[in-house]
Formats: sequence, structure tokens, C-alpha cells
Amino acid sequence: MSIDFSGRWAWAEVHTGLIQHNVAIVAQRVAPAQVWAVVKANAYGHGAIPVAQAALAAGATGLCVAITDEGVALRRGGITAPILVLSEQPAEMTEFLVGYGLTPTIASTRGAAVVARAAEAADRKVPVHIKIDTGMHRVGVAPAEALNLARYIQSFESLAIEGIYTHFAVADEPSHPANEKQLSLFNDVLAQCAAAGIEPPMVHAANSAAALVNPDARFSMVRLGIAMYGLLPGPAVAEQCQGLIPALSLKGRVSAVRLVEKGEAVSYGLRRPLAATSLIATVPIGYADGVPRSLIDSDIQVLVNGVPRSLAGTITMDQLMLDCGNDFDVTVGDEVVLIGRQGEHVVTADNWADALGTIGYEIVCGIGERVFRRYQ
Ligand SMILES: *Cc1c(COP(=O)(O)O)cnc(C)c1O
Repeated sequence: MSIDFSGRWAWAEVHTGLIQHNVAIVAQRVAPAQVWAVVKANAYGHGAIPVAQAALAAGATGLCVAITDEGVALRRGGITAPILVLSEQPAEMTEFLVGYGLTPTIASTRGAAVVARAAEAADRKVPVHIKIDTGMHRVGVAPAEALNLARYIQSFESLAIEGIYTHFAVADEPSHPANEKQLSLFNDVLAQCAAAGIEPPMVHAANSAAALVNPDARFSMVRLGIAMYGLLPGPAVAEQCQGLIPALSLKGRVSAVRLVEKGEAVSYGLRRPLAATSLIATVPIGYADGVPRSLIDSDIQVLVNGVPRSLAGTITMDQLMLDCGNDFDVTVGDEVVLIGRQGEHVVTADNWADALGTIGYEIVCGIGERVFRRYQ
């Protein structure tokens, strides 16, 4: 049974059919490489379990998360597909990694030894993926030390090297020379390992941008994040993202209306005296829900009754107010679209990101826990 009452006149709608559509497009594009769906950060705000289910149904063969807790939550939600945890975890979490059958990333001898001990204690052979730092400089073993680490991992009966991978720093800028450099360092490591008889079945480097843009980066699987949600990795790869459709809408209802006289102003700071007497509509969603307070300084508008409306004043923690001008028909209960389509108009998370100087990722990840997700 699905509960579709948000308990509140503000909610997000996530269209899992569009997640499937997006995964299927990419899966077809990258085949025979597999797609592992990146569902970290509550699936970029979309809801980890429903998105994982949709992605797997559409052809993804594994999942990636950032932290142990996220993997545990997926297992508890009934997900049985492989789940790769994308960086080394605190030693205290190792028993959960092993106990819940999550696939650890190994990037150091210390990390390898910790996982090996827990695997031995549980009497399991645990598949691991080695992460190579080819230039992102966030996590990963240095290329020069990769072979030694692989050999060290091999020395443990309780570990199996299932994968080896890296991550690009500028995949969303396809012409940036760092992409070539990282790929070539990664290929060197693969060749060294192969010469030493180490040829793990899963080799991967590509995030969404690299998967869509660079066939040489696909190897045996791609780690598909942002594109699965129908958002752009960056403006330079917009062309390769054609056909992908945003899966999340952010909506609400008008909770109150009032006429405010010319010269009066609305909300904290009374920042913007009205040029004319206007209908002001209140919507019960605010910055605690992930509607950035700085939107007031952008040209982003919110849709009500098919018409784009400007913010009338400062966005508060739980509510915001729209200037509906002389449209006195706007009334309590009218549907409000902050992100999504209404009538002819569409506002996307990427529009918000452009207006705020950030990326769509941050917008959707920022949608608060308080916002109920409705699934379609
Ligand atoms: C988040 C992440 C991804 C997914 O990146 P997108 O740009 O969202 O496709 C892939 N790999 C790693 C290591 C990540 O941290």
C-alpha cells in the first residue's frame, strides 16, 4: 500500500517510470558495459529504495552508495543486488559492510587489513573494488602503489579483487586534457596488474558524463548518477543528455492569500515594497525544505495556475510568498509548481542551479527530509 498523503501542502513527486526511461537510455548507449546506479544521498533526494528498484528493473545490475548506512538501508529494504560503497569506511563499520554483504572499496593497505580481518571473522570471502586516484585527489591509492596494494589484497584468503576503478575530476568538460591524462594513468595501472596476473572482472571509471561522452571510459561498467535523474552533469554535455527527462517535481498548494497594498512589503526584512496592490499567495515550503533562500535574488519564478510568479519577499524557513499581482483568482488550495511542469511552463532543478551558480545535484540533494516523496 502506498501512502500518498503528504500531510502537508508541500511535497515532491518522483516518477519512477522516468528513472527507468533514463536508465534504459544510458544502458542501451553504453552496452555491453553494465550500469550500476548511484543512489547515494537518498538517491540524490529522490528516495533510495524506490529509485534502486526502478533502476534495477530498467537494467541496472548493481548499485553504488557513499556510506555504509546507505547500503544497510537498501539491504533492509529488500534490495539484493550488489552494492558498492564508494570509499573506505571507518573501521567500526566493517562488520556492517561484511554482515550486510556490501562491497567495500579498498584504497590502502590499512583498509584492506581491516576488511580482511572482519571477513575472516565472518568466515566469508568478500569481493572488494580497488580505487585508484588518477587525478581527482579525493580518495584512492596512488597509481604507483596500486599494484602493491592489489598484491597485498591477494595475500588474504578472505578477500577477492572483484573490481578496480577510478573517478574523473572533469568528465563534464569533455575537452579538458585531464580526462585523457587520468584515463591513461588508469590504463597503465590495469596493464601492470594484468601483467602480474591480476585482471578483475569489473573495471570502471565513468560517472554519468564520462559514460555518455567517452566510449573509452566505459570499460565493464559505468556508475550512473545524475543522468538517471534526468539532470545534466554540466552544460558541455547537454547534447549527449538529450532524451533524458527530470524525474522529480517539487510542488505545493497555496495555503493562504491576502491583498497587500501598494507600498507595503512582504516577509522578513520587508525588502520589496509593492509597486501596486497585489494578491500575495503563501506556500508552505521554505529553506528548511531545500528552497534556497538566495532564490530571491535570482529570476526564478514559481508556477501557479499555469503562470510564472515572482517571489514577493524573503523565503522563510517553512513558507514563502508569491506576488500574483492583480490575478485575484489565485486562491487557497491552488497547485503550485516550484520544480516541474505546469501548463506550458517548465522549471527545472538545473534552472535553479544556473540561477544560483551551483549544480542541479545540490538542488535535488537539498530537498529536505520533511518533504514527503510521492511515487508515480
Ligand atoms: C557520485 C559519484 C558518481 C556519480 O556521478 P554522477 O556525475 O552523478 O553520474 C560516480 N562515481 C563516484 C565515485 C561518485 O562519487
